[in-house]
Amino acid sequence: MIAEKLVHAVMDQIDPDTLIDLTARLVRCNSVWDPQAGTSEAEAAALVAQWARDRGFDVAVEAVFPKRPNVIVRWKFGPGPRTLMFEGHTDVVTPGDRSRWRHDPFGAHIEKGRMFGRGTNDTKGNLAAMLVAMAALKASGIPLAGSVIGGVLCDEEDMMTGVQHFIAQGHADPVTAAVVCEPQDGLICIAQKGALRARFTVHGHMSHGAMPLSGINPAPAVARIIDGLAQLESAALKTFGEDTLLGWPSFTPTVVQAPSQGAPQLNVVPGEAKILVDIRTLPNQNHASIREALVTLARQTIADVNARYRETDRQLGIQRPWGVDVTVQVLSDRPCTQTDGNEPVVVSAAWASRRISGREPEYAGVPGATDGTFLWSLKHIPIVTMGAGDRHVPHQVDEWVDLDQLVDTARIFALTALHYLYPGADR
Ligand SMILES: [Zn+2]
Repeated sequence: MIAEKLVHAVMDQIDPDTLIDLTARLVRCNSVWDPQAGTSEAEAAALVAQWARDRGFDVAVEAVFPKRPNVIVRWKFGPGPRTLMFEGHTDVVTPGDRSRWRHDPFGAHIEKGRMFGRGTNDTKGNLAAMLVAMAALKASGIPLAGSVIGGVLCDEEDMMTGVQHFIAQGHADPVTAAVVCEPQDGLICIAQKGALRARFTVHGHMSHGAMPLSGINPAPAVARIIDGLAQLESAALKTFGEDTLLGWPSFTPTVVQAPSQGAPQLNVVPGEAKILVDIRTLPNQNHASIREALVTLARQTIADVNARYRETDRQLGIQRPWGVDVTVQVLSDRPCTQTDGNEPVVVSAAWASRRISGREPEYAGVPGATDGTFLWSLKHIPIVTMGAGDRHVPHQVDEWVDLDQLVDTARIFALTALHYLYPGADR
């Protein structure tokens, strides 16, 4: 049990204006990784580092790549086995065509209780909320057992090198649980889909469009692969069904390109084609078997398509010296994550959410991968993903966050840490 006066001691330290101001300042730092435009996470990271130093935290800034730093914000309350990590990324995706935005994407414009701008929702609002929550807990002076670590990381939107660097430097070693601060609209997400991305390359033989018999067109192999992926998906839907938190598995060809490089031309049979596949998995699906199935699909495609080419050659009395070849390469492999509902961090998050919202918490799954995927898979850290913001708004134009929900999120983050680190609160 946590005494009411302790809850108030923490709540009193959360000032909505400070949170909104920090969010706005972060949004005004254009932190799209764009070497040509000269923008990166550096400015937002420097702002966070200074903000945290001003509040007495131990702060380290580490370059993952030039101009792409991680910021590690630490505070040890007292001796204890637990270290709670809050994770929030500083990078944002491109605003795209700025003329389609109603407000400046880096202006942090506030209208009717909403702040607009790239990163308001994903995830600078939540990053500010976790920092304000950590500072509130520290300022409350409540004797807690253990530590908090804020991982303010770069490159979440692309290759997630920030979190991998954080782990490689040993920062995750003492972490016993993590709150991944992402827009989940107040839901407590305890599962995440796995992601396996692969590239099929079909090698044919380039020729004139008027003389296709002097080449080998990769197109029939492309069709065969896409059909094969649909069959794999259909089998997975039957075998694994719909997960209550995560929905359905999927095998999605997202990029189909021929030629695989250079400009396409109507009267040229391309020499090579590529297909990129984005596979999203449920906890029971085995990624090794999926990799094997992709290799088998490549082999079957070679056999089927070349058999048809040889049949055509026989009919026409010719003998082309070539056939198609298909190779498949796995580009990235991220497992599902699943945190048990009885893990202390989940219990703490649920208590905090109930305490602030007055409702029973709702559990859910995250459709995409996050930095939490690496904390879970490489360090076996139980993770909870939660935060303010409509789940469909990330990466859209006119991205926004509701400021009341954001303030409540800072309160929930702070109470989660209070409950997790208060001696005997959940034991
Ligand atoms: Zn995000």
